[in-house]
Amino acid sequence: MTLLITGGASGIGAATARLAAARGHKIAINYRSRETPARKVVAEIEATGGQAVALAADITREADIVGLFDAAEKVLGPVTHLVNSAGIGTAPTRVQDYDATVLANLFATNTIGLMLCCREAVRRMSTARGGPGGHRGGVIVNVSSMAGTIGGRPGASAYAASKAAVDSFTMGLAKDVAQEGIRAVSLRPGMVETEMTEKTLADNAVRSAIESTIAMGRVGRAEEIANAIVWLLSAEASFISGVTLDASGGGFVFGKR
Ligand code: NAD
Repeated sequence: MTLLITGGASGIGAATARLAAARGHKIAINYRSRETPARKVVAEIEATGGQAVALAADITREADIVGLFDAAEKVLGPVTHLVNSAGIGTAPTRVQDYDATVLANLFATNTIGLMLCCREAVRRMSTARGGPGGHRGGVIVNVSSMAGTIGGRPGASAYAASKAAVDSFTMGLAKDVAQEGIRAVSLRPGMVETEMTEKTLADNAVRSAIESTIAMGRVGRAEEIANAIVWLLSAEASFISGVTLDASGGGFVFGKR
């Protein structure tokens, strides 16, 4: 079992790498700029007897994506599992202030890059392409966001759209490959404390305001998302495909209940 995780150097991706390694996956950790944290996660996995490699690739570049899958396969064997965790947000922006370059980069990362990673995974996993000893199917988990279900928090409409597209794409992808041995699901985290959100959550007033909109009254931990992802990757989820799973502390609530 070789699991490739995009954006695996930090946050949800890194937590997934640690947990999946403990469950017996060989792990290819993709990073764009975070080489040192990526190597640290590799070292942690190796220290516990696991196998991992850190691989640089910018998922906004098609050639990087193809090279990433080739490199992962070369070092760890055929990629059987993929978690697309790489993603970015934007500074809070209202629609009248949209910048075309910012939007293009947002969608290139969160949506198109993810779709091309899925393309490479399908090309390599699909039983329809398998020869003797070849492709045996696999599992893809795409990390989207609860933001997609509400149009985002204020100023995050573009981010929300880039993630809602992931949910819809994953549904279609799953149907395309359901008879080729591949399952595909998307996982929608609610607000989780990671490198992406640490600045926002460092402000106690903002944190309380956010937590008051989450049914459980708290933000999540990366490990809580990783647990759900690793279950979706496992054979225990063998009849689950084409759906989204919310890991969101009970979802949004507005006002007192
Ligand atoms: P994070 O910032 O720690 O992780 C995202 C990773 O993606 C980073 O390591 C970053 O370097 C990498 N990345 C960004 N652009 C890339 C590119 N072009 N090529 C390769 N890697 C790239 O934050 P996180 O919270 O762990 O985010 C993981 C995923 O979860 C993201 O897709 C994010 O949108 C989603 N998500 C996060 C939250 C949250 O509250 N933290 C909520 C919902 C969804």
